[in-house]
Amino acid sequence: MNAGRILTASGVDIDELRGLIHPIRPEQVWLRSASPLMMRIWGPGIQAMTVARWIFVDPRALNGDRARLSLLIIHELVHVRQWSDLGVLGFLSRYLGDYLRGRRDGLSHRDSYMAIPLEIEARHLQSRFQ
Ligand SMILES: [Zn+2]
Repeated sequence: MNAGRILTASGVDIDELRGLIHPIRPEQVWLRSASPLMMRIWGPGIQAMTVARWIFVDPRALNGDRARLSLLIIHELVHVRQWSDLGVLGFLSRYLGDYLRGRRDGLSHRDSYMAIPLEIEARHLQSRFQ
């Protein structure tokens, strides 16, 4: 499924989004259904994961409510842009490093995940479309 097509069909202001995720173009990003093994690794509560230019989505979310799926896609497109900006090693080292720092400082898994700056940015930009 094409990310841009879903967003357009849901009435998302694509031009505003393009400005926020430049140089990523939503119509050039594709969604893939996550495998059961992948979702077992993710653990509960996680509906999607971006790896470079691929967005893997829980099949239930992929086939569920379109407005919710659109917000999820916007969030993941911010991660696509972060991967593009930082490169593979840059993204992974920053993302995992910030997560592990939180854990070392005594945060729970969830709190540490929520405190990752790359996640805060994705949630912040996503919230502009709610
Ligand atoms: Zn995220």
